Amino acid sequence: MRLVMKFGGTSVGDGGRMKHVAELAKEYRDSGNEIVLVTSALSGVTDALLRNAKEASDSGKTSSIKEFIADLTKQHHKAAHDAIGQNGIVEKVTGEIDSRIEELEKALIGICYLGELTARSIDYISSYGERLAAPILCGSINSLGVKSRSFTGGEAGIITTDEYGNAKPLEITYSLIKERIEPLLNDGIPVVTGFIGETESGIITTLGRGGSDFSASIIGAALKADEIWLWKEVHGILTTDPKIVPEAQTIPVISYIEAMELSYFGAKVLHPRAIEPAIRHGIPVRVKNTFHPDFPGTIVVKDQKQSKDIVKAVTVIRNVALINISGAGMVGTIGVAARVFTTLANAGVNIIMISQGSSEANISLVVDENHLERAVKSIKSEFKNGIIKEVTQDSNISVVAVVGAGMANTPGVAGRVFGALGKAKVNVIMISQGSSQHNISFAVSGEGAKKAVQVLHKEFGLELSK
Ligand code: ADP
Ligand code: ASP
Ligand code: MG
Repeated sequence: MRLVMKFGGTSVGDGGRMKHVAELAKEYRDSGNEIVLVTSALSGVTDALLRNAKEASDSGKTSSIKEFIADLTKQHHKAAHDAIGQNGIVEKVTGEIDSRIEELEKALIGICYLGELTARSIDYISSYGERLAAPILCGSINSLGVKSRSFTGGEAGIITTDEYGNAKPLEITYSLIKERIEPLLNDGIPVVTGFIGETESGIITTLGRGGSDFSASIIGAALKADEIWLWKEVHGILTTDPKIVPEAQTIPVISYIEAMELSYFGAKVLHPRAIEPAIRHGIPVRVKNTFHPDFPGTIVVKDQKQSKDIVKAVTVIRNVALINISGAGMVGTIGVAARVFTTLANAGVNIIMISQGSSEANISLVVDENHLERAVKSIKSEFKNGIIKEVTQDSNISVVAVVGAGMANTPGVAGRVFGALGKAKVNVIMISQGSSQHNISFAVSGEGAKKAVQVLHKEFGLELSK
């Protein structure tokens, strides 16, 4: 089989774990598969890079950069030694790490002097996590006697738009990856950095937080892989976040649509776009646990035949905000909603949920919390003429969603959802059901979210093993 395997941050968290990943990949290769590896940064490194870039631009002090750079060097040198062992390979890899870290230090000092951090420089800085991890994993594979080369996303052929922080692959990506990576599959295990690509003019971009899932799926589609495997620290896609409900169970089989809805509605286990490339060729995506490789995990497939579950999972999006727009002048005035959405789109605001009362006198929206200020300002300035009387906002909001294709055409699901919430005294602020009927989502105040997830998980019997 041809397999593209992505290992997440915890899976490559230190040198010992990288060695385990290299051995696992070799094992799959030795049993007759073609393997491409996609790696995340060591866990915590992307966060640390972002934090230090912000600190550099805010404080203008270079002293903390020196400390950060020393720690980062130590961490990656240790990982290299633990993953590769004492041999000629480790010197080459630590040399590579040192020259990358030197570039990073210069960039951070530049940001410090400029006191400015653009979206483009954030992408550049955060790309170093994966760019430091890939050579170590590659060295670890070499130390097992298997050929390997490491590539940045751009070198592998991931060419993207210049939407920094949320870049999308251009069509040319698919032929470039095939051209550059396919010839190596016979001969060894190529390692590609997840999360990053580059523009046509060679500027580094990132695909959004958690983006290495997306990278793996893009590469899998380009190589028409038999399967795309996303290795994580959990037993697959679970019925909810195990941090909220420890009894959450693995979902053995799930459809593309359900997995996409789940990730749009906050299940951190998958990047929201990770399934899209796989759909191009109907490639199954597996989510597996790096630390229990024999456990089958979850398989995401095109169509799931016959599922008896109505609800598959409960998800939560935290850190969102509610905007309420009201005014009697809105009643019967054509085009108000259209103007609201156009205004918000032009301001780059991501709308998560919408609801309009049938009186037409108010529209409620849920947006990312960090887009709230921009959103309210743009609406107020668009409607200076008085149709809208009031714009109110509430920022301590979460959106909870129940997801499952079996909900379509099953009467009474909404009744059960809101009945159970009522009994548990969870106050629902706003409700929305997509016309796909694959999810019901609703907004609650921040404190109500955890309770809502726990109550609904129980209501639909999701804690019972599959
Ligand atoms: P990766 O190592 O690939 O980056 P993530 O950390 O992105 O993996 O994904 C796993 C995390 O997602 C878990 O720590 C878990 O708490 C969280 N999570 C949230 N919802 C779910 C879900 N429905 N199923 C599994 N994990 C979930
Ligand atoms: N390292 C990146 C992040 O932390 C991408 C990833 O792990 O998928 O968001
Ligand atoms: Mg992730």
